[in-house]
Amino acid sequence: PLTLPRPSSVRVVAVANQKGGVGKTTTAVNLGVGLAMSGLRVLIVDVDPQGNATTALGIDHDLGTPGTYEVLIDEEPISPLARMSPETPGLEVLPATIDLSGADLQLANVRQRERRLKTALDDYLKSHDIDYVLLDCPPSLGLLTINALVAADEVLLPIQCEYYALEGVTQLMRTVNAVKSSFNSKLQLATILMTMYDARTRLSKEVVDEVRGQFSQEMLETKIPRSVRVSEAPSYGRSVLTYEPSSAGAVSYREAAAEFAKLHATASKEASNRAGSS
Ligand code: ADP
Ligand code: MG
Repeated sequence: PLTLPRPSSVRVVAVANQKGGVGKTTTAVNLGVGLAMSGLRVLIVDVDPQGNATTALGIDHDLGTPGTYEVLIDEEPISPLARMSPETPGLEVLPATIDLSGADLQLANVRQRERRLKTALDDYLKSHDIDYVLLDCPPSLGLLTINALVAADEVLLPIQCEYYALEGVTQLMRTVNAVKSSFNSKLQLATILMTMYDARTRLSKEVVDEVRGQFSQEMLETKIPRSVRVSEAPSYGRSVLTYEPSSAGAVSYREAAAEFAKLHATASKEASNRAGSS
C-alpha cells in the first residue's frame, strides 16, 4: 500500500559529503528502504567502490559482480545489471564492487566522462517507473561523485553531530556550484540530515544549532540518533527497518523518509498550482 505521496516526477538524489563515516551509506540504504516500504519505487545506485550499500542491501558483491563499473566504463545499460534487493519489494540496487576503485582514473581520459551516469540513468528511466533514485557517493570529490552530481536533481547532505561537522561543506558547495554552472543547472543542495545525534550531549545540540543557523531551509526536523542497531544491521545484509523495526534508529529513518517525501510533495504541488494559475 502507498502510504507516502509519489513525487510528480522521478527525484534523483545524490547522497554526498566528502567526509567518510558521516552516514551517507546508512542514510541511502535506510531512507531507500523506508521509501520502498511506503509503496514507492526506489533504485539505489552504489557509486562507492567499498560497495557498502550493496552488501547492506543483501546483494552479493563478489569480484566480478557487474554493476556501476560496467555502466560507467563500458557504457552498459543499467537495466540488466540492477538487482531486486531481498530487503523489500520495490527496491532495486545497481551494485558496486572494489572494481569501481579504478574508475576515477579510467574515466579521466574518456569522452563525456562527467555524464556517463546521467546518460545511462536517463535511458533507464525512460522505461522504468521509478519514484526515487538514491546515489550513494564515495568520500571524495572525484569523477565518481561528479558523475553522481551531474545525474542528480538534488543533493542530500548527511552531517554527523560531531566536532568539525561543517568541515568540508564549503568544498562540497563549491563542487555543487561548479557542476551546476557547467553541467546541471537544476542541481541544488536540497536536504540536510543530522546523523549520529546523541540527545544526552551538549555537543550534539550545539552542532544541530550551528547547522540550522546556516541551513534552516534544508535541515530536516528529524534527526537520526546514534544507535547500535543501526550499525549492526549491515552485517546481516539488512536495513535497520527490517532488522529491528521498533528500534529508535528504524523509527527515525521512517520519519526522515516521510518528511523527505512530503516536503517534496508540497513543493511540487505548489509548483503545479503556480503553473495552473498562470
Ligand atoms: P559513510 O557512508 O558516510 O562513510 P556510513 O554510513 O558507512 O558512513 O557510516 C559510518 C559508520 O557509522 C558505519 O559503521 C555505520 O554503521 C555507523 N553509523 C552510521 N549511522 C549510525 C547511527 N545512526 N548510529 C550508529 N552507528 C551509525
Ligand atoms: Mg559510504
